[in-house]
Amino acid sequence: AKNEGSGKIKVFRQRMLEKLQESRTLEHDMALAIVNKEFVVYYQPIVDSFSQKIYSYEALIRWIHPLKGLLSPDHFIPVAEKTGMINEMGKAVLELACREAACWAVPAKISVNVSPVQLSSKAFAGIVLSILKETGLPPDRLELEVTESSLFTESTTPMNTLNKLRALGVKISIDDFGTGYSSLSRLSRLAFDKIKIDKSFVHSISTQEDALNIIKLITGMAKSLNMKAVAEGVETQEQLERLQALGCDFAQGYLFGKPQPCIDERIRNG
Ligand code: C2E
Ligand code: CA
Ligand code: CA
Ligand code: CA
Repeated sequence: AKNEGSGKIKVFRQRMLEKLQESRTLEHDMALAIVNKEFVVYYQPIVDSFSQKIYSYEALIRWIHPLKGLLSPDHFIPVAEKTGMINEMGKAVLELACREAACWAVPAKISVNVSPVQLSSKAFAGIVLSILKETGLPPDRLELEVTESSLFTESTTPMNTLNKLRALGVKISIDDFGTGYSSLSRLSRLAFDKIKIDKSFVHSISTQEDALNIIKLITGMAKSLNMKAVAEGVETQEQLERLQALGCDFAQGYLFGKPQPCIDERIRNG
């Protein structure tokens, strides 16, 4: 049994070393990738649940790695956050997305994800404002998606930043709702514009009563706080119908469109 234990530790240590090595080369590759402009933005529609008219596009970062191909953000965002590189990366996404949306013939909104690391920086509000000015995108066409964990901090910077941007017309969505620990009082004080229901609940809406009840709770809460509810990860007609029955305002998912490098031509060209 003793040997077995130390064997396990060896395996564990080996894995830790591998992980370290992996993140070290990833970090190095990422620095190069910024220089080589290997990061691109894909766009996924968010539609009105009832009319199915396009309301917004969410900007989702992708890494076109020269050897590994298309990499999803879950592979590199955590490392970018750890190294602080997310600040530069996030700024680049915001700039690309706002520049893109400013040329659309139809004034759909553009939704951009913001890392808790970016939001804890005092410089962030100024960065957003200068990008809006530079690209000419009206503030009310920009929507920032922040996670609950951004606000789960002692610092008042994230809240101050969001309140300031919101006063200028920028919309704020709380992402992945239901998976974190946001307190109701914090939520009501901030008065976000939207709550995004995490796709894990949407995927179980037809098979688990719990999931259905949680979505019912979130949409009800959104209404009473004067916010809109958005369901993410909608893949089937049945899921959509259940969400409509619960009064969920907006929907996003493969049923309406996958993230793509180019947006619908009717939006782009009118
Ligand atoms: P998220 O913000 O919750 O984005 C939704 C994720 O669900 C996206 O994954 C999207 O491609 C995926 N998705 C959309 N519709 C469906 C569906 O019908 N079914 C399923 N199974 N999945 C669907 P993606 O693009 O891989 O992004 C993963 C996460 O990476 C995002 O989760 C977001 O937290 C983060 N992320 C993406 N772009 C950025 C960025 O520019 N900045 C920051 N800070 N984070 C980003
Ligand atoms: Ca998001
Ligand atoms: Ca989400
Ligand atoms: Ca997510």
